[in-house]
Amino acid sequence: MTGDMTATDRLKAVLRDISEACKAIDRDPAGVTLIAVSKTFGSDAIRPVLQAGHRQFGENRVQESQSKWPELKQEFPDTVLHLLGPLQSNKAADAVALFDVIHSVDRPKIARALAKEMAAQNRSVKLFVQVNTGEEPQKAGVGPKQLGDFLSLCREELNLNIAGLMCIPPVDDEAALHFAFLHKLADDHGVKELSMGMSADFETAVQLGATHIRVGSAIFGARG
Ligand SMILES: *Cc1c(COP(=O)(O)O)cnc(C)c1O
Repeated sequence: MTGDMTATDRLKAVLRDISEACKAIDRDPAGVTLIAVSKTFGSDAIRPVLQAGHRQFGENRVQESQSKWPELKQEFPDTVLHLLGPLQSNKAADAVALFDVIHSVDRPKIARALAKEMAAQNRSVKLFVQVNTGEEPQKAGVGPKQLGDFLSLCREELNLNIAGLMCIPPVDDEAALHFAFLHKLADDHGVKELSMGMSADFETAVQLGATHIRVGSAIFGARG
C-alpha cells in the first residue's frame, strides 16, 4: 500500500520515526534537522512538500539545482538548501550564491574557493567537512588522519567557521560504526554538528547523535 502514499505522507512518517528514535533515548527531536533530498526529482514533485511546510532540502549537483531552486526559493523564501554532493572549485561561486549549507567541503582548493566567494558575495554559507570514515579510495572526503590539519587550515588560515562533519559510510559496513566514529572525531576536534544517516539508517544516526539527516528515497520514492 505504500505505493499510494504521497511524498508528504512519507515525510510525516519519517518525522514520526525521528521523533520515536529521539524519545527512546530522551533526546529533543528539535535538535535533528531532516533534509529532504530531492535530487533527480523535478519542481512538481518538490512543491507539495514545500506546501506541506517543510523547508530543508538537499541536492547533489549545483547545475541540477540551478534548474529548479531559484524559482522554488522565490516561492518559498525561507527554504534552506543543502549541497550534499562533491563540489568542483569552478562551481564555488554558483554554490555560494544558491546554497545555504554545504556538506561536502573536503580539500584545501575547495575551502579556499568557498572562502573567497563568501567574501566576494558577502554571503555566509554554513559548512560541513566531509570525512571519508571508511578510507575508501573512490570516495570523496578528508581522511580521518588528515582531518586535524584540514580543520586548522580552514579555521586559522581561511577564517572559516566549520559547523560540522559529514560522512557516507561504506555500503557493506555497519553504518553505526561510522556514525560513532564521526561523532568521536567531532568531539576530538571541537566540532558540534553531525550530518549522517540516510533513508536506510537515519534512526541509527539519530541515536548516535546526528544533527542533520539526509533522507531521499524514503520521502520522494525510488530514483529512476
Ligand atoms: C542521495 C543522497 C542521500 C539520500 O539518499 P537516500 O538513500 O535516498 O535517502 C543522502 N546523502 C547524500 C550525500 C546523497 O548523495
